[in-house]
Amino acid sequence: AIAACALELDRVDAGYGTTTVLRDLSLRVRPGQVVALLGPNGAGKTTTLRAAAGTVRPAGGQVRLFGQDVTPLAPHRRARAGLCLIPEGRGIFRSLTVRENLRLHDVAIGGDGRGEALERALDAFPDLESRLDHHAGHLSGGQQQMLALARAYVARPRVILLDEVSMGLAPLIVEQIFTALRDLAATGVAMLIVEQYVAQALDLADHVVLLNKGAVTYDGSPSGLDQDALLAGYLGVD
Ligand code: ATP
Repeated sequence: AIAACALELDRVDAGYGTTTVLRDLSLRVRPGQVVALLGPNGAGKTTTLRAAAGTVRPAGGQVRLFGQDVTPLAPHRRARAGLCLIPEGRGIFRSLTVRENLRLHDVAIGGDGRGEALERALDAFPDLESRLDHHAGHLSGGQQQMLALARAYVARPRVILLDEVSMGLAPLIVEQIFTALRDLAATGVAMLIVEQYVAQALDLADHVVLLNKGAVTYDGSPSGLDQDALLAGYLGVD
């Protein structure tokens, strides 16, 4: 038998109100695989992650997690099934402390909010330890992003969706973020990443899906992609 995909979007149509953004979109992420979802502004990358996470409800098609149809399930039910979305803008609570953010997330996904999950997160992100009682809003941009990634460790998810996690961060911090992503990937979790740093994303990814105007225009290995053309023109990256 063929092992179930970790995450599968099967012929999904989705949008906002009467606006269709995704058209007949199919993509698969296998357990342990890192898939980079790339495309120009407005192509529908964020909408794809939202359809997977359940914050956008498809008008057609199916979303499956480990073979189970989760299309009718609300976002928190999908989270309990092992899916974690790290949204653009990080999705952390700025007025809560680092400790409270990590506990809250643990409880939100059905944990007991106690020590073990927190320890796991701090093992992976030791810089957060000395800042546990600081308000998240007072952390630097890089530290806030580390906190957002630490959430993923707390939850021990099986599928992580990442939306432009390096947005607005200094190059040195971006390197640290990608190191953290590499460590996350090495835990065997499946990852679907949207990234403006195309070269780094392709370096991390096993597989690439290119989107244009809500439809898939490439679905294959990074090496099969004309990367120079991609970098030079298609994405508008210098
Ligand atoms: P970007 O890199 O600019 O974030 P993207 O590929 O992530 O682009 P989406 O954010 O998915 O693209 O947007 C796809 C289309 O959907 C765009 O035309 C956008 O204006 C529209 N859109 C996105 N969010 C909403 C919303 N909440 N309500 C209405 N339209 C939206």
